[in-house]
Amino acid sequence: AQQIEFLRESIKTIPDYPKPGILFRDVTSMLEDPKAYALSIELLVERYRNTGVTKVVGTEARGFLFGAPVALALGVGFVPVRKPGKLPRATLSESYELEYGTDTLEIHQDAIQPGDNVLVIDDLLATGGTIEATVKLIRRLGGVVTDAAFIIDLPELGGEARLTAQGINCYSLVD
Ligand code: 5GP
Repeated sequence: AQQIEFLRESIKTIPDYPKPGILFRDVTSMLEDPKAYALSIELLVERYRNTGVTKVVGTEARGFLFGAPVALALGVGFVPVRKPGKLPRATLSESYELEYGTDTLEIHQDAIQPGDNVLVIDDLLATGGTIEATVKLIRRLGGVVTDAAFIIDLPELGGEARLTAQGINCYSLVD
């Protein structure tokens, strides 16, 4: 509980970013504190060590900052999910609804093998749209996804219920 309080205090809250009325939870302030950053990775690694995870997927861009160190510590590969046009090999794409308009994410087709047990990591869970699209990409490649982990959950936005309905267990360090 003390560790979680320490993590919570390392996250700055920025009012009216990126738009008026939004309270932005800024994880870059956590990255600037090496004790907080290391602790966030350790807690995720502890939870998912020896659970049979064979790949970690992180979503651009802040998902890379947490997903890659967790993959290294678990001794498994890291796979980036990126905005369109960034990945050089053959990709699959998945579009999803935003409050205004749509967004698209891509994954390398050969980065996930059928039967891979994939852990998805992102910095923050809000409505769950980003991770729902990420999970669809992994499943289209035959990957098995049962778990997604976050540094922060914003529970009032309903992301956990949305992902639970897709068969995903959500875990977050701070909410
Ligand atoms: P969702 O798709 O769950 O609605 O939104 C989550 C995505 O938006 C994540 O990839 C996350 O990085 C970004 N995001 C939304 N709100 C915030 C916020 O307050 N702070 C941070 N760091 N990221 C946010």
